[in-house]
Amino acid sequence: MHKFGTVALVGPPNAGKSTLMNRYLGQKVAIVSPRPQTTRNRISGILTTDDAQVVFLDTPGIHQLRGKMNRFLLESAWNALAGCDAVVVLVDAALYAAKPSLLKKELKPLAGPVAEAGRPVLVAVNKIDRVKDKPTMLPVMAALGELWPEAEFIPVSALRGKGTEELLARILDIIPEGPPMFPEDQISTAPVRFMAAEIIREKLFYSLRQELPYSTAVEIEAWDETSRPGLALVNAVIYTAQKNHKGMIIGKQGANLKRIGSEARKEIAELLGGKVHLELWVKVRSGWTEDPGFLRAMGLGE
Ligand code: GDP
Ligand code: MG
Repeated sequence: MHKFGTVALVGPPNAGKSTLMNRYLGQKVAIVSPRPQTTRNRISGILTTDDAQVVFLDTPGIHQLRGKMNRFLLESAWNALAGCDAVVVLVDAALYAAKPSLLKKELKPLAGPVAEAGRPVLVAVNKIDRVKDKPTMLPVMAALGELWPEAEFIPVSALRGKGTEELLARILDIIPEGPPMFPEDQISTAPVRFMAAEIIREKLFYSLRQELPYSTAVEIEAWDETSRPGLALVNAVIYTAQKNHKGMIIGKQGANLKRIGSEARKEIAELLGGKVHLELWVKVRSGWTEDPGFLRAMGLGE
């Protein structure tokens, strides 16, 4: 018997959705960030075992959303719910144990749509490694039980891998029988170029101390795996909306961009299983203020 199913991962930003998916895949597919809302597009990861294939949909974070961009994020999340075989709601238990008032505020907007999807719900009570005072979990569990009376609750630490096998076992129980839909070596439905751009964006988020506006975009301008055997030549541009952010991203004497580039290159190389030459540029979207000479001088250009 072989099983096949899709599972939507939903939950507020920062709950650990991307961390959980990456853990199951044993590889980085979705970007993980200490800042919310970095997953702008839906990313799916494909887990293939001997007798099952599970497609995980990592949805953008959902919270009190305003504005056009956020409406788009929400829609994307609801679409993921519509067609899945099971919903895994991820919640940051450590956060709610410490700040109980946040729980309803963050999770109530999710409860209705999740229930409406009419799919089996597993609530992954995440970050239990950070809950030091266990009794603080009691009100959290009670409140979660009120929000999802029909759900199963599984305490996990996506980061440390605690409880994640139990959660996966429940997922495998729930999903229907069916043949695999993807080749066994495919780990995502997203193209590698897109994943490479996401990796660069992750390094960018991590590298900046200041609040980075979400108006930053990464575009892969050139992708050449054929000119030089065994070496992928990748050109990427980081676009930023504001002029002063460009300097922040590049850093003193190009140091920040250089670090972003070298960290991203390593990970893209892992993703491709080969060597990568990465050129990174920063451009302000409104107006051309790029300085290729400077970047080249920093060893970041050609
Ligand atoms: P997402 O926005 O829901 O996709 O959340 P991420 O997967 O990007 O994780 C947000 C942050 O929480 C990252 O800094 C993760 O390392 C951290 N995190 C995720 N799961 C756990 C966990 O089980 N324990 C701890 N301590 N941190 C976690
Ligand atoms: Mg994420």
